[in-house]
Amino acid sequence: MRPLAPSAARALAAVVGPEHLLTDPAVTAGHAVDWTGRFRGATPAVVRPGSIGEVAAIVAVAREEGLALVPQGGNTGLVGGSVPLAGEVVVSTARLAGVTAVDPDAGLLTAGAGTTIAAVHAAARAAGWAYGVDWAARDSATVGGSIATNGGGLHVVRHGPTRAQVLGVQAVWGSGAPLDDLGRLEKDATGYDLSGLLCGSEGTLGLVTAARLRLVPHLPERALAALAFASMADAVVAVGALRRGLPGLEAAEAYRAAEADLVAGHLGVAPALAPPPPVTVLVEAAGHDDPVDELAAAVAGLDGVVDAVVATDGPRRAALWRHRESLTEAIATLGPHHKLDVSLPAPALAAFAEEVPARVAEVAPAARTWLFGHLGDGNLHVNVSGVDPDDHAVDDAVLALVLDRGGSISAEHGVGTAKRAWLARQRGSDAVAAMAAVKAALDPDGVMNPHVLL
Ligand SMILES: Cc1cc2nc3c(=O)[nH]c(=O)nc-3n(C[C@H](O)[C@H](O)[C@H](O)COP(=O)(O)OP(=O)(O)OC[C@H]3O[C@@H](n4cnc5c(N)ncnc54)[C@H](O)[C@@H]3O)c2cc1C
Repeated sequence: MRPLAPSAARALAAVVGPEHLLTDPAVTAGHAVDWTGRFRGATPAVVRPGSIGEVAAIVAVAREEGLALVPQGGNTGLVGGSVPLAGEVVVSTARLAGVTAVDPDAGLLTAGAGTTIAAVHAAARAAGWAYGVDWAARDSATVGGSIATNGGGLHVVRHGPTRAQVLGVQAVWGSGAPLDDLGRLEKDATGYDLSGLLCGSEGTLGLVTAARLRLVPHLPERALAALAFASMADAVVAVGALRRGLPGLEAAEAYRAAEADLVAGHLGVAPALAPPPPVTVLVEAAGHDDPVDELAAAVAGLDGVVDAVVATDGPRRAALWRHRESLTEAIATLGPHHKLDVSLPAPALAAFAEEVPARVAEVAPAARTWLFGHLGDGNLHVNVSGVDPDDHAVDDAVLALVLDRGGSISAEHGVGTAKRAWLARQRGSDAVAAMAAVKAALDPDGVMNPHVLL
């Protein structure tokens, strides 16, 4: 890693103040490794701007000094996009945090890029609304990171991914020019969707400093069922039926018996359904009125359910949700592992789930494959433990199978550095060339996350 030139260090310190330019390796090390421990890099500095003006000045210094920048929010990203793998300077959004405005009549909320998803939920709730995007890393993952990855999570089946919640973004492009779309309204048909361009851009076009987000009605009444299926094929058909017939459907999350045992052992509790069936699906419904009868009727009409438990009160729902939400953490206890977040067309999903462990075993006989995901969106998380972090054979085997079955190599985590080699195979060379042209226009010197995505 190249140390920061004295002129660059002086210029960055002049922008943010010396206390927000971190160069002590003991302090910066935590910013250089990802959540899984698979992606480890090093950085000469972490810089923490406190305003959009400071971000623009940092980008100007980077262009002048030939520095590469990696934007970093909560550092919960799972594809190696948020860490400085090639000695880049990390730009932390920690000081760009806070909800600055809530419009309770329009159902809109404005927040700094470093605001956590949990803080957005709290502010929305205080205004009588809810935020439609949620997942287990909510206490650390940020607004900026969720936009940059187009994060999905538990409620995509009802509200869509982050892209569907973003009305407007404030950002600094890699050119140093600002974008101020924070005033955009629900209906606005004026030209290109520049804020939308930043959704899924993974820090390669610019740094998001704030966003105006769409809120959804708060639905106070909830019911959760854990359904047992003999096969993934039965579960896929049942979830399709629930999407058609259960208007209050908020989430449909699946995992297999192996994951049920792993997470129960990790939590030190009995599995949600004991003994764990081949496939467990957690189905949540929400409404203004108690949805338990609606949920029970929908479940009663399903084929293939071999057992079920329903939780109506908060503590029992939370206890059931812990089984699903602690899965990532439980797998992490097995050591650094490969995480492959993919989506499949519904007709191909069950066969893929059956076949993928064998494909992994062919290239890595000692590996274990763990499968769970957001079944309502055709999204599976393929986790592989017991392989070297730098061994790409497993990734290649899984992603080749995904493409062969008409799926997507990234459902919600992004491409990062982990899947960069696969982007053209997924999207085609014309689409990648168009993306490169957009990047060249908005980040002409290539200072923004140059080793990610493209
Ligand atoms: C336990 C656990 C569960 C998870 N569950 C889900 C899930 O269900 N669904 C899901 O979608 N994800 C999930 N994730 C992944 C992760 O939380 C998301 O990808 C999240 O959006 C990352 O946000 P972050 O603030 O941590 O971003 P980071 O990890 O810091 O960064 C992610 C990417 O965004 C870029 N970036 C960050 N901030 C900005 C900014 N302000 N401007 C421009 N670029 C920026 C980074 O450069 C990087 O490329 C999970 C992660 C964990 C650890």
